[in-house]
Amino acid sequence: MSNKIVIIGSGFSALSASCYLAKAGYQVTILEKNKQSGGRARQLKRDGFTFDIGPTFYWMPDVFEKFFSDFGKKVSDYYVLEKLNPAYEVYFGVNDSISIADNLEDIKDTFEKIEPGSAKKLQKFMDGAGSNYDIAIKDLVYKPGKSIFEIITIQTAFKLNQFIDNIKSQVARYIKNDKLRKILEFPVLFLGAKPEKTPAFYNFMNYADLQLGTWHPHGGMYAVVEAMIDLATELGVKIITESPVLKINIEKDQVISVTTPQGDTACDILLSGADYHHTERLLPKSSRQYSDSYWNKKTFAPSALLFYIGFDKEIKNVSHHTLFFDTDFSNHARTIYDTKEWPEKPLFYSSFPGKTDRSVVPEGKESGIILIPLAPDLEDSQQIRDKYFNIIIDRMEKTTDQKIRPHILFHESYCVNDFKSDYNSYKAMPMDWPTLFFRRIYCVQDYKAIN
Ligand SMILES: Cc1cc2nc3c(=O)[nH]c(=O)nc-3n(C[C@H](O)[C@H](O)[C@H](O)COP(=O)(O)OP(=O)(O)OC[C@H]3O[C@@H](n4cnc5c(N)ncnc54)[C@H](O)[C@@H]3O)c2cc1C
Repeated sequence: MSNKIVIIGSGFSALSASCYLAKAGYQVTILEKNKQSGGRARQLKRDGFTFDIGPTFYWMPDVFEKFFSDFGKKVSDYYVLEKLNPAYEVYFGVNDSISIADNLEDIKDTFEKIEPGSAKKLQKFMDGAGSNYDIAIKDLVYKPGKSIFEIITIQTAFKLNQFIDNIKSQVARYIKNDKLRKILEFPVLFLGAKPEKTPAFYNFMNYADLQLGTWHPHGGMYAVVEAMIDLATELGVKIITESPVLKINIEKDQVISVTTPQGDTACDILLSGADYHHTERLLPKSSRQYSDSYWNKKTFAPSALLFYIGFDKEIKNVSHHTLFFDTDFSNHARTIYDTKEWPEKPLFYSSFPGKTDRSVVPEGKESGIILIPLAPDLEDSQQIRDKYFNIIIDRMEKTTDQKIRPHILFHESYCVNDFKSDYNSYKAMPMDWPTLFFRRIYCVQDYKAIN
């Protein structure tokens, strides 16, 4: 049996693949470019504060549980998980917010108070979303992604109309209130298209959101990375950091090794958890599958401007996850997907993990993570970042009715240029989140298939 596998990258996809392959008896080595493993889910520590650099929303706990159970383990063997209540809060204006509870009955009550009659409709909407979740998450995502026919099943055939209909019009048929509509539309924003361009079938994201709830792993999302590293190591996977793959070497149409600054590493099989575009660029030109114009025409998930802020006191009137939808939703979406420019009045998402987990902040202080979704590949400069930092702080002060600026101890930012240099990201798209575990592992399968 071809035994030696090299995996490029140490993000969630590479780590999960490494575990399955090691369990199947392969000798697995991960080569990671950065000093810290975890890819887009790395961690930043500064002055006693701990920040998740990328993901902060833990959804679909069943998927994580299934992953660990495949190795005879439980999530609780590795980290403590807490269900958040409220799951999140959404601001629509000054002192005007809606909190989403940790269970559907309370969420229905919230809807009913705002729009009489909507509780029943939400239940009906969620029944459909639940059925789609069962099809999508429990079945389709675990297929290898080799053929379009994998997603054509008896169940999906019955749902054909939901691939023609879109989320926006579907939500509009159930709910009239604009704020409630936005709450139901927002989960698909990160998938790489506007709600009016996203098939209604994707309402399974609403099931993940409102039915399964929002969770927090103690220590932050990086606790999941650490858990996966522990499991991989227990299974015998070797992880080598600061080892960027510079070249994939091929002989007679077979991958034989990869080149890093430390030298060549031979392999029988190569997998890449790095971005597809970048991985292809590591191959000789004649062996690439896609041209530059192919990549150029592709639509990608949004990029982001992020801020990691240390405050000298606890911030009031915000929840662990707080969304600021106090400006026009469709205008911002248009700048991401149509005009591809910096938004004039951005919507943004904020996370204050210290509201739940005091282990990530020093005593009496608060950490804040801010994310503004953006079109990929926008111009990125310190001046632009500073401008948006000021816009966001002004808006937070006004909307949550408090002085925030004098309490900032420090802030760091992360944007397009960092995504490119840290992850070799194409056009700096940060990656859509429901693909967390089931993003297809881009195997250089034309050269060698695992068998
Ligand atoms: C800002 C942001 C917020 C997000 N929020 C959420 C959220 O709240 N919830 C959620 O579920 N998901 C969220 N996501 C998505 C989630 O983080 C990603 O889907 C996931 O981390 C991607 O994992 P991956 O393994 O596919 O890729 P990556 O994590 O990007 O892993 C790829 C790895 O390959 C390495 N690499 C690249 N080139 C080379 C090379 N030549 N040699 C060696 N190594 C290389 C990179 O350094 C990286 O470690 C967010 C993402 C971002 C960026």
